[in-house]
Amino acid sequence: MPDSKQPHQHAQPKNSSLSGVKNVIAIASGKGGVGKSTLSVNLAVALAKTGAKVGLMDADIYGPSQPGMLGARDARPDVSGDMLQPVKKYGISFVSMGLLIDNDGPVIWRAPMAMKIIHQFIGNVNWGKLDYLLIDLPPGTGDVQLTLAQQASLTGAVIVTTPQQVALGVAAKGLKMFEQVNVPILGVIENMSGFVCKHCGKTTDIFKVGGGEALSKHTEVPYLGAIPLDPEIMMSGDTGVPVLESGVDSPAAKALLEVAKNLQTIVARVSATISEDEPEQIELRQNGDLVVTWHDGRVSNYNAYSLRINCPCASCIDEDSGRRTLDPKRVPLDIRIESFEMIGRYAVALHFSDGHSTGLYAFKLLQKLPEADSSGSFEV
Ligand code: ADP
Repeated sequence: MPDSKQPHQHAQPKNSSLSGVKNVIAIASGKGGVGKSTLSVNLAVALAKTGAKVGLMDADIYGPSQPGMLGARDARPDVSGDMLQPVKKYGISFVSMGLLIDNDGPVIWRAPMAMKIIHQFIGNVNWGKLDYLLIDLPPGTGDVQLTLAQQASLTGAVIVTTPQQVALGVAAKGLKMFEQVNVPILGVIENMSGFVCKHCGKTTDIFKVGGGEALSKHTEVPYLGAIPLDPEIMMSGDTGVPVLESGVDSPAAKALLEVAKNLQTIVARVSATISEDEPEQIELRQNGDLVVTWHDGRVSNYNAYSLRINCPCASCIDEDSGRRTLDPKRVPLDIRIESFEMIGRYAVALHFSDGHSTGLYAFKLLQKLPEADSSGSFEV
């Protein structure tokens, strides 16, 4: 058994207000204007209609649109102590920067301030017990997205795209960012896919549709479905009444329910796989080696030197060829791991005694790395 212990670390830190949330799902897009916020709201309502407990976090703090889409522009969350109570509307609990500011003007924050709000949305909201928490991310691939991926222990991310964005390669960029931080992509939704005529119900393909499906085939990411370009969806955003609140028979409502159902199936599958890969416990030996107890009870011992020379970070591995660029001779043989930190539900960051701490060791990678025997001996 290990001599020295760090506290047992779970997927969601015990003090996180997300500890009662079963699945945290980021809704992302490569660029703005593709309907990411609209779909976040409508999918949250669609999931709630299936009987699930659903939360929605508007992390698009620079342009919060959800209070308007949920007809809750004037709602204000209760605050008790330093905890925020989410606002309840149409069966979902939600928080948004828009609930905390007094005017409709654009929110102009410096980046550190924005990050502070995101930390509070993760740590200081009484989310309670939820089956799904959807996080509407700001468009693009920046700090907010990375912070959330690492701190909110995402189950995975959904990429919203339009037929044109697929053609421009913007959606693929969004996919890449999540892959780099080891967050699984739960699927792609093609939005504004074909125009539904309000009068005759006929669908006309204005742009070349099917790009979302092609992208999903090409990248082996699941395809969650297509949502038509439907004036009803746009109007629902303006009136503050989500599509599914006005009925379940319109093409838009049917498409949303179908996508929500597909998402539920995939989330259940991915969540089960993550739990299998996730360690039960990670500890440090007094000599600075690492001990991982896996879900199935297997215990793996890793020598600190062996882990250091197998560091997967960009300064130790050539990203294109995957070859090691670090010279093992430059790593002290008596190197130790001084501390570690869980990164989401996928990886652990190791801080070595030579000052190196940029390597994120995905659990999948750890399972492939050479193990030492319990005395610490290993083969390089
Ligand atoms: P994003 O969050 O990606 O910036 P929004 O959700 O704000 O995009 O949507 C941009 C605009 O497009 C809004 O006016 C919204 O009502 C409209 N919209 C989104 N999806 C659809 C759709 N499927 N059909 C019609 N209008 C849509």
